Amino acid sequence: MVRKRVLVTGGAGFLGSHLCARLLKQECEVLCVDNFFTGMRRNIEPLLDEPAFEVMRHDVTFPLYVEVDEIYNLACPASPIHYQRDPIQTTKTSVLGAINMLGLAKRLHARILQASTSEVYGDPEVHPQPESYCGVVNMVGPRACYDEGKRCTETLFYDYRRQHRMDVRVARIFNTYGPNMHPQDGRVVSTFIVQALRGEPITIFGSGQQTRSFCYVDDLIDGMTRLMNVSQDIEGPVNLGNPVEMTMCELGELVIALTGSSSRLEFRALPQDDPRQRRPDITLARRLLHWSPKVSLEEGLVRTISYFDRLLADPSEADKL
Ligand code: NAD
Ligand code: UDP
Repeated sequence: MVRKRVLVTGGAGFLGSHLCARLLKQECEVLCVDNFFTGMRRNIEPLLDEPAFEVMRHDVTFPLYVEVDEIYNLACPASPIHYQRDPIQTTKTSVLGAINMLGLAKRLHARILQASTSEVYGDPEVHPQPESYCGVVNMVGPRACYDEGKRCTETLFYDYRRQHRMDVRVARIFNTYGPNMHPQDGRVVSTFIVQALRGEPITIFGSGQQTRSFCYVDDLIDGMTRLMNVSQDIEGPVNLGNPVEMTMCELGELVIALTGSSSRLEFRALPQDDPRQRRPDITLARRLLHWSPKVSLEEGLVRTISYFDRLLADPSEADKL
């Protein structure tokens, strides 16, 4: 059998490591490319013994010369504290990374999927957000390096499609959580779980009435691989996320209940440009991909809590937290 050879950029990150594992299960050869800015070796450690798995340390802002059949472009820091650490590099990673990966896909006549984001909708005035909504983004605010970087990536993908007739796919991913999240990435699910497990205050930003909709990683990866593999032509971006929406206060209380923690909610300042509400309209994904999330928030959180519980119990890892 000839195995499909698949490139995953950002393959040592949270989503990338799950994607690499899934592709190996599907009998693909996987080339994981990462510069380890936010990616972690421990995420891909279980895969290193697989003969079909290869890792390359590389920054996607530089050209890459490899031979593959398909490309998933995930390389980009995704949590606000990470992408705001070096905002110029974040925009470069999105824009130059996309140009380099699209150029590679063009030469190879390979199908390419971009991990885009619900952040392209900014602080949305339409709720829930369908793909047709163009969003409201502050282009000079602290989140712009990420949001505008991803918006420009989408522009590039559809220009390559129109100009070079390429087969491109764009997944607009909404907040996703699960094992392999970076324990210090500041994202709300990982932060609340680590705080609850340590009995520390749960830090609620603002009033805690802002909402998000959280998708468990296995569901998200299922949606992403379906989007890549569906044979019909896909004309535009597709939302992938779980439409169950909740406030940050509700999430905090749920994490406390599921961990049995003595932690209490503590209120902090709201970061600038923090979106007030977000929920995906997944009508298109249901129709085109026959996909919808299966894992409930409680079940997904229990699995994630157990991952962080093991991590915190490991003294070599706990030192790094
Ligand atoms: P992550 O930070 O865990 O993973 C990103 C990976 O990209 C890391 O391994 C990092 O080292 C690597 N990387 C960063 N810059 C690079 C560069 N210049 N060259 C090579 N590698 C580089 O984030 P994640 O949550 O796994 O997100 C993966 C992708 O999915 C990102 O593109 C992100 O924008 C998108 N996304 C994620 C979510 C989510 O909720 N997790 C939501 C929307 C979109
Ligand atoms: N948040 C919070 N406390 C934290 C971290 C985040 O209340 O310790 C809030 C944050 O202000 C936002 C929501 O949780 O409203 C989701 O934040 P995250 O950074 O996970 O994702 P994003 O804002 O990019 O959707």
